[in-house]
Amino acid sequence: MEVVLSIAGSDPSAGAGIQQDLKTITAHGCYGATVITSVTAQNTLGVQAAMPVPPEVVGQQLRAVLSDLEPKAIKIGMLPDAEVAQVVADELRTYLAQHPVPVVYDPVMVSTSGYPLMASEAIQVVVSKLFPLCTLITPNLPETNRLLQLIEKPVSSSFVQVAGETLARHFGCAFLLKGGHADKPQMIDLLFEPDGSLSTFATERIATSNLHGTGCTLSSAIASNLALGHPLPEAVGKAKQFITEAIRKSAAIRIGHGNGPLQM
Ligand code: PLP
Repeated sequence: MEVVLSIAGSDPSAGAGIQQDLKTITAHGCYGATVITSVTAQNTLGVQAAMPVPPEVVGQQLRAVLSDLEPKAIKIGMLPDAEVAQVVADELRTYLAQHPVPVVYDPVMVSTSGYPLMASEAIQVVVSKLFPLCTLITPNLPETNRLLQLIEKPVSSSFVQVAGETLARHFGCAFLLKGGHADKPQMIDLLFEPDGSLSTFATERIATSNLHGTGCTLSSAIASNLALGHPLPEAVGKAKQFITEAIRKSAAIRIGHGNGPLQM
């Protein structure tokens, strides 16, 4: 059985973060391992608190899992601060030198409810130390704009194509720009690969507020598909189908009093 490692934050309401990643990886027939970077207190109404796990404990978790379970793909989500981002980059660099497996990073910055999930100083470490290790980065539109500001190449968000090409060329890895935040009848995600190729994934927009943890679900579904041996565009296409089906199934289900989780 293929092992997929999720390095992310804990969500006790289990709709996002580590808990949702584990459900997604299991639904793909893979074995999920988890390294927790932050313990949050949150539910479907929002995030109330977040406590970063000490970086040395994150490092110990990583060494324990990587040395024994040898994952075939790695998903990274919430990295709360620069120290945790640094230890994740250091441990992954060592592992990837021996086991060059795909790494999918969902650059989580702020929750949908507006709670900051990454300290602003962490972004420099993430971009300089972690991006070079990544196969695919999956920002939403606000995260895309933040990354473009960092490389001082501001591009209007109406020029998503220019934005994606710019990021993929600058950082030398693939970018999946997610259209969920755009106000359009279709959800269009664009996959830019560093060789210049572009794949488009269009799905209907489903009217629902049950969208908690969609970014976590998509990135761990892509990582699972990569662990199963699918090439990148196919892994993204299958993950999009998976999440669209999960959103459809969850639209009529009530769990909690706010932005509900996805069912698989
Ligand atoms: N909490 C954790 C631990 C996460 O990793 C994420 C990730 O995207 C979120 C919350 C944000 O979820 P949402 O944007 O659905 O609020």
